[in-house]
Amino acid sequence: MGQLVNCRRCGRLFASAGAALCPECIEARERDFERVREWLDRHPRGTASQAAEATGVPLAEVTGFIREGRLRLAGGELRCERCGTAIPNGRLCASCAEELERAVTGSARGPASQGQASTGARRAERLRFHTRRSPDG
Ligand SMILES: [Zn+2]
Ligand SMILES: [Zn+2]
Repeated sequence: MGQLVNCRRCGRLFASAGAALCPECIEARERDFERVREWLDRHPRGTASQAAEATGVPLAEVTGFIREGRLRLAGGELRCERCGTAIPNGRLCASCAEELERAVTGSARGPASQGQASTGARRAERLRFHTRRSPDG
């Protein structure tokens, strides 16, 4: 099982069951993560670049941990990819994420709601017919 892929971190060929990193790099990355996490415990207001400099962990890796939601920065060095607002983790701020989600579900709902409107009108006509009073009351 697994197929040979190049490790995204060290470039070595290894048999992967879906992981992008070789087992050695996964272990090394966990050690890096622990180093950064410990540093941030001692420097709660530190930024990603300060953490990278102090621990020797590549900045790309530190921001990777943050994007994965494993680390949180009080300084908020991450920015929303859409509007540029500082965000604690992820790629979008809450309002942009909400807007995008609404845009996706809105476009999917478009034609369906039109169909609903026409059947709704037909039903309203039938209702008017049924509720017409007889002259006797
Ligand atoms: Zn590797
Ligand atoms: Zn945003």
